[in-house]
Amino acid sequence: MKPIDFSKVPSPSYVVDERLLTKNLELLKSIQDRTGCRILLALKGFSMHSTFPLVGEYLAGITASSLHEARLGYEKMGKEVHVYAPAYIEHEMDELLGYVDHIVFNSFNQWAQFKDKVKSAGKTIECGIRVNPEYSEIETALYDPCYTNSRLGTTLANFDKTQLDGIDGLHFHAMCEQNSDTLERIIEVVEEKFGDVLHQMKWLNFGGGHHITREDYDVEKLVNIINYVQEKYNLLVYLEPGEAVALNTGYLVATVLDIQENGMDLAILDTSATCHMPDVLEMPYRPMIIGSGQANELAHTYRLGGLTCLAGDVIGDYSFEQPLKPGDRLVFTDMAHYSMVKNHMFNGVNLPSIVSYNDEEGIKVIREFKFEDYSGRLS
Ligand SMILES: *Cc1c(COP(=O)(O)O)cnc(C)c1O
Repeated sequence: MKPIDFSKVPSPSYVVDERLLTKNLELLKSIQDRTGCRILLALKGFSMHSTFPLVGEYLAGITASSLHEARLGYEKMGKEVHVYAPAYIEHEMDELLGYVDHIVFNSFNQWAQFKDKVKSAGKTIECGIRVNPEYSEIETALYDPCYTNSRLGTTLANFDKTQLDGIDGLHFHAMCEQNSDTLERIIEVVEEKFGDVLHQMKWLNFGGGHHITREDYDVEKLVNIINYVQEKYNLLVYLEPGEAVALNTGYLVATVLDIQENGMDLAILDTSATCHMPDVLEMPYRPMIIGSGQANELAHTYRLGGLTCLAGDVIGDYSFEQPLKPGDRLVFTDMAHYSMVKNHMFNGVNLPSIVSYNDEEGIKVIREFKFEDYSGRLS
């Protein structure tokens, strides 16, 4: 594969390599082809809509969690549009129903509130209930939909079987960056709690959090689970990964602005953890930089910081073979998902440009941001 010349892109910028995205999409499509299941892109994780025509060649559609996401998927991909939200807003409902073909409710209250509206929408919209299996294998509560007292999904105790008339499917989402052995254990619990109801359903949505495109992911096990569930309950399985679609397909290219010293060497970049890669602070995690090592692994160690005034806007400590100097470019890897969907303009810091790469067109700058993008969301 021809390497991308990162010196030719604007800085900072997110660069998505469509060749790598296609590779992920091919793997996901092979699972659809082998099982007949349908895979949706969860827009929460990756919403770079210039790639939606490409994504739509492989996947069945998108899943949204809000009016705007649903509209984006409807307008920019135009395939299946599913929506789930912890609660829907009454005054948005008519517009939302114009975009979607599947709607999943978080509770029987919400189902009762919107049932008539959905059924009189003038088109067929399949309805589902999100269940909380109360089983997950996630350590961090922030990312665990099944932690104690979670608001996400209906527990078995609150599952009202008398209100299932008009419900076509069930939905659960209980994973985060996990392999198919975790899914296998979750399915066991889902069957135990909701198996009797599944026989009446047209579909079961396994949610997201499947790390399918990661090197060590056990695809065969996933295929077996999907086939088993579809056959046993005579229904269609949906998966809605976000991260797995865009995993390892993009970069954040940044430039060193200044070098300082305060007990150690410090480098300030034209990017920001808090503005451009918020999961570095939220998850938290340490992103990889091409050609770098852990602190003190290579000759020159720096603490890399962002250009906001937030004291904690620090990306981490990295070492390099050569000393850094202003103008040097750094390339952060795996920056396509949960980056541009979560960034913001805190401190008036501009957003990174959005760039794509493919062999036919080379580097394509799709979007650059300016003052009006900043002022336009304030007043
Ligand atoms: C976040 C989310 C997804 C996507 O999760 P990934 O971890 O990005 O695969 C799918 N479905 C629901 C309901 C979600 O909340």
